[in-house]
Amino acid sequence: MSTQPPPKVLFATSEIAPWVKTGGLGDVSAALPAALADAGADVRVLVPGYPALLAAFPGRVECARIERPGGAFLPARIARAPLRPGLELLLLECPALYDRHGGPYQDRAGAEWPDNSLRFGLLSKAAALLASTDTPLDWSPSILHCNDWQSALAPAYLRYRLRPACPSVVTIHNLAFQGVFGAERLDALDLPPRALAIDGVEFHGQVSFLKAGLQLCDCVTTVSPTYAREICEPAHGCGLDGLLRHRRDRGAGELRGILNGIDTALWNPATDPSIAAPYDAGALGGKRANRSALARRMGLDASAGAPFLGMISRMTAQKGVDLVLEIAPALVARGARLAILGSGDATLEAAWRELAAAHPRRIAVEIGFDEALAHLIEAGADAFLMPSRFEPCGLNQMYSLAYGTPPIVRATGGLADTVVDCTPRTLAEGSANGFSFVEPHAAALLETVERALAVWRDRRAWRKLQRNGMARDWSWGTAAREYAGLYRSCGREPPPVVPQAAAPTRP
Ligand code: ADP
Repeated sequence: MSTQPPPKVLFATSEIAPWVKTGGLGDVSAALPAALADAGADVRVLVPGYPALLAAFPGRVECARIERPGGAFLPARIARAPLRPGLELLLLECPALYDRHGGPYQDRAGAEWPDNSLRFGLLSKAAALLASTDTPLDWSPSILHCNDWQSALAPAYLRYRLRPACPSVVTIHNLAFQGVFGAERLDALDLPPRALAIDGVEFHGQVSFLKAGLQLCDCVTTVSPTYAREICEPAHGCGLDGLLRHRRDRGAGELRGILNGIDTALWNPATDPSIAAPYDAGALGGKRANRSALARRMGLDASAGAPFLGMISRMTAQKGVDLVLEIAPALVARGARLAILGSGDATLEAAWRELAAAHPRRIAVEIGFDEALAHLIEAGADAFLMPSRFEPCGLNQMYSLAYGTPPIVRATGGLADTVVDCTPRTLAEGSANGFSFVEPHAAALLETVERALAVWRDRRAWRKLQRNGMARDWSWGTAAREYAGLYRSCGREPPPVVPQAAAPTRP
């Protein structure tokens, strides 16, 4: 049994559900710190003071000031807001940078905020300061955990500007977003010229927040074992595969894949307040009422014998939304109904609107972000579509599995780690829980949906598939234990090998 004290974790993030969320990072930043606290860790989550958070925590208490943050950064303050025992938020308040309406990265029109380098440079700088020997807080972490590019510059400050008081971990939630800015930002970001080097923050002549973190932190993790392997290859490495291979090959757990969990307090069909009727693996009949509610909510024809296919997604090529668009008419011709929720790329959004108009009551599309509708789609659909070209972990397929809505996925990243393709053998063994395919083509997706529909028509086989998915524990407990182990070993030298029968040395 470990005699080490529980870890003290400074978790730096640019999103936290339910207040600020654009995707999986927001969910993870809420659920993982909570699971760590449940396991006995002392966790503080550092997050920018966006309007939604300032409004949610009027009783927050200032606990530190950063008067001279350096570079072009403005002074900031940090306020604490306890969430529950072992877990509190640290809001990084700098109204000129964060107290504005719009998304965390973009304005309401979808344009990137022009000062994002400063907004997330300050988040990184503050995280580094709190993990340094100069911390203004009366609390010091035993580990700094940075997430994605928005906080990944912290290890650079700990290398070039501050003295680290603890090791640092950088987790890649999506390697495609890297935070790359012109080299002329170096000064404004309070980094010295020598940082613009191949073993520093430099990436093709520019400043890359994520490259800096991956280069300078003690341990790198990503959100599934398969994605950890994939990002070491050129096809998925987004230009950073060489660096990632280097870190992997140095061994000692320097690059690990730890599969995300899901928040089973929020995503549980037996207790979900957003759905029409509760159900569980023992009483799957409740799904019928949810199917009807979904049909009413989205204006779909719910004739018996029509399979409902759901999709909830950022509208981007990453998610294979275009593949679904391509086969949607063929799916309708086979009697299927499509319930689509998402927002993102304007061209994809327009294509979906058009398709919905051409197939009234067969294809329903809601453009936007709607948490309650997302729950109803998971509960009301028969199967879920997620044909991602790449997928670091993916949460929606796990929600689908928990909701008895077998996912139809491309076998990549976390999808490959969670979905077991249904074949006569896997079904007989009891491991099948969905359907997967390999080639990122519309024809492969269509063939897989057809396979799924054939199983759907076999009621007993489908029930088995649903129950297999619902039987597994998708909660955060396992991941939290793995992170706790990583926090203990990260940055520590392996224990010296002591010769067994060495004679004691005399002073
Ligand atoms: P990513 O982080 O790449 O967007 P994930 O599957 O890991 O994909 O996580 C997406 C999260 O965002 C899930 O919780 C999903 O339900 C949610 N989500 C995505 N788009 C929408 C939307 N339009 N409305 C409601 N929830 C959404």
